[in-house]
Amino acid sequence: MRRLTLALVIGALMLGASVWQSHFGALAQGRTPAGTGHQGDAFRFNKVAEGVYHAVGTGALTVVGNGAVIVNDDDVVIVDDHVSPAASWVLLDEVKRLTPKPVRFVVNTHFHFDHAHGNQVFGPGVDIIGHEFTRQMLASGRSLQMPLYKNYLDGLPAQIDTLRGRVAAEQDAAAKARLQTQLTSAENNLASQKELTLVPPNVTLKSELTLFRGSREIQLRFLGRGHTAGDVVVYLPREKVVITGDFLTAGMSNLSDSYPDEWVNSLDALKKLDFTTVLPGHGEAFTDKAKIDYYQAYLRDAWSEASRMKQQGVSAEDASKRIDLSKHKDHFAPNANLSVPLIGVQRMYELLDGVRPPR
Ligand SMILES: [Zn+2]
Repeated sequence: MRRLTLALVIGALMLGASVWQSHFGALAQGRTPAGTGHQGDAFRFNKVAEGVYHAVGTGALTVVGNGAVIVNDDDVVIVDDHVSPAASWVLLDEVKRLTPKPVRFVVNTHFHFDHAHGNQVFGPGVDIIGHEFTRQMLASGRSLQMPLYKNYLDGLPAQIDTLRGRVAAEQDAAAKARLQTQLTSAENNLASQKELTLVPPNVTLKSELTLFRGSREIQLRFLGRGHTAGDVVVYLPREKVVITGDFLTAGMSNLSDSYPDEWVNSLDALKKLDFTTVLPGHGEAFTDKAKIDYYQAYLRDAWSEASRMKQQGVSAEDASKRIDLSKHKDHFAPNANLSVPLIGVQRMYELLDGVRPPR
């Protein structure tokens, strides 16, 4: 693989000025994005190494995916910017709890809405980095046409209606308050989705790219198709930390845009990196590398079961109900869903039909 190295030597102060100016400029001019209202902290920043944090939502605001914050000698790199401009804007605000240093780079691990829908809040001094495929999906707007996002967006009004009904019916004051927080969070999310403008990465890679930021080395690697056609993992070789997006989560990843058969091999490439800690795009940070084996085993069975059912002429709908992967239950959380949702079966059927253009 050809190694691309990006040596970035632009003055951090100038860059810092641009992002903070953009951020505070929005505040000063009353252009706070819709849907940012919340109580308490929206993010937990779980420190896993010096200056390296897993950014996980508290529930005060809808953020959906986890991200990471890497504080370097002079600047900050953010990995994944969550589900909405509001979530990302609040992230930028709360990063100030960690450091006054300016955000200089954002990495999108992949194109999915819960990892890249905050790109628009960053100013022109912030480079957004992602795989070429991620750029294609966001630049063309195709990402919004994918069933995963369409289903999500279409489901928000019903989710809000249900929560309204539950708030109204709840008698217990504490439970009512918790439901009200969920309702406000869902309403904020919908308001923010309406202000969405897709911003694609302006720096792309096909295989590898390395950022040297002061004493920090940050490697971005494409390890093969998997969760999407353009997943990038962010690897910190000195800290032995890898930030995996949805290429490897703490549990099940969505299969809707995936290549399950290729993903197994791509995960073998991940195993070759020397790391001790994984910061996943969903779920808590973990150190157990066996999770890679477990997920590979799940993917192999999901793929072979879908193949078997398709060969037998079983519809995707029925296959989704019939595929039973509960034999893997000891390797996942007790509440993990070990069936394959319809959207995942439909994707595998599509691949089995030979439809394999990037999507
Ligand atoms: Zn995803």
